[in-house]
This record gives sequence, C-alpha cells and structure tokens, in this order.
Amino acid sequence: MSTPQRVAIVTGAARGIGEAVAHRLATDGHAVVVLDLLEKDCARVADAISAAGGVALAVGADVSDEAAVEAAVSEVADRLGPPTILVNNAGIIRDNLLFKMSVSDWDQVMGVHLRGSFLMSRAAQKFMVEAGFGRIVNVSSSSALGNRGQANYAAAKAGIQGFTKTLALELGRFGITTNSVAPGFIESDMTRATAERLGVSFEEFRDTLVSNIPVGRPGAPEDVAAAVSFFAREDAGFVSGQVLYVAGGPLN
Ligand code: NAD
Repeated sequence: MSTPQRVAIVTGAARGIGEAVAHRLATDGHAVVVLDLLEKDCARVADAISAAGGVALAVGADVSDEAAVEAAVSEVADRLGPPTILVNNAGIIRDNLLFKMSVSDWDQVMGVHLRGSFLMSRAAQKFMVEAGFGRIVNVSSSSALGNRGQANYAAAKAGIQGFTKTLALELGRFGITTNSVAPGFIESDMTRATAERLGVSFEEFRDTLVSNIPVGRPGAPEDVAAAVSFFAREDAGFVSGQVLYVAGGPLN
C-alpha cells in the first residue's frame, strides 16, 4: 500500500459502526487509530486492517476521561503522526422513560457522547490547526429529533449537532471542517440491546422499523461509514457544519 494520507482516530471502533468506519478510512488510504475502552478489544479490528494491508493502531481509552484522552491523542501523535481526522463515534444507551431515568443514566450518556466528543475534539484540534487541515465527524442520531425512552440520548445527540455547527464556525479558518452524520436504524449490538429492552425479538423489532424506512431495508454500519468517508475527503473542504441523516429516507 502507498504511504497513508492522514492519521484518523475513530472512537468506539472496537465494533459496530466505528469498526466499519475504521475499515473504510483505512481503505481510503489513511492510517487509522482504533480507539475504544479496552485496547485488547481494539486489537482485533486493528489486526484485520493491518492484515488487509492498511496501517492501524489499537488504543484503549475512555473518551469521557480527560487525562486518558490527552494521553491517547499524544500517543497517537508520537507513534503515527498528527491526527487530522477525528470521528467521534463512541456511544452508549441507558434508555428509560423519564420517570424511571436515574441521574446516573443521564450523566453516563452525556459523559460519553457530549463530554467525550468535546474532550477528543479539543485534544485533536491543536494538531489540526498546526497542520492547517482537519476533518471532524461527529456521530449524532435520528433520535436527536426525539425518541420515546431516550430523553438522555436524544438530548445528547441533539447537543452533538449544536457542537458540530459551533466547531465549524470556530475552526473553519484553520482548514478544519466539522460535520455530523445522523444514522437512523442501523443493525448493531446497540440496536440489539434496544430490542431486548423492549422485550421483542431483534427480527420483530427490525421488521417493524423497516416497514417505515423508504428504501425498505435496515441500515448497515457500512452505510454510515460511506457518509463519514465523504466528509473526511480532502475535496470536501467546502462542506462544513452539516448534519447528514443516513436513514434510508428523509428526516427533519
Ligand atoms: P455499539 O454499542 O455497537 O458500539 C459502540 C462502541 O463505543 C463500543 O465498542 C463501546 O465499547 C464504545 N464505547 C462506549 N463508551 C465508550 C467510552 N466511554 N470510551 C470509548 N469507547 C466507548 O454501537 P453502534 O451502534 O456501533 O453505535 C455507534 C455510534 O452510532 C454511537 O454514537 C451511537 O449512538 C450511534 N448511532 C447508532 C445507531 C444504530 O442504529 N446502531 C443509530 C444512530 C446513532
């Protein structure tokens, strides 16, 4: 493979959407940092990228932990070079109706999605500013528009959209774009957990949701990865502050 173009960090990349994004950015020619809670969980994805001829580094870090984030981003810069692509994808759900939602359910979701995206972006932006180039892609969700049982998650994912637009305003002058992808229903461990919480089989859950998706199929992690890949491109530099719903149909 030719020399990697850029160093890309993908958070929450040990599985699901993040794993697909990591593979896609590696295929696009970037060196990819597979960052997730435990380094050993990242190693499988990093090894697969390396085996396919790419360049990958597994890094264990909790995105909501300031010291861990600073150490992880420094390690990336030392070992691979300045990270100039960042995909804030790490996420959790702690679903419950409002009257049953605990403060811990609320804080944990805010901690990973919002605090995590903030800490990772703040740590990476200095390398992007120095390079005069950067691509930040934040993973929001169709739940930002409201979703029963997800007051915490919907608020966090709507917050991600405001965060995205603000970074686009602040960082644009340094050659840094910031955009957001907002997936609809994507088959992953996260949506399997949702079906379980609702007490229905995953197949039943999927079929009900698909009946309302115009393209008539569930989303795959690779569908989201394709949208992230577009925002990360060199020639997407005039596209910033956007929210792209990846949901098989229009959402607003
Ligand atoms: P997933 O649960 O399969 O994967 C999430 C990954 O994030 C896991 O590997 C997990 O270990 C990691 N993670 C969680 N907390 C972390 C932390 N504090 N630090 C580092 N890593 C952490 O979920 P997924 O379906 O692949 O979702 C990925 C992203 O896409 C999330 O932000 C999610 O909210 C969003 N999303 C998913 C869907 C969907 O339908 N699956 C829809 C819209 C948005």
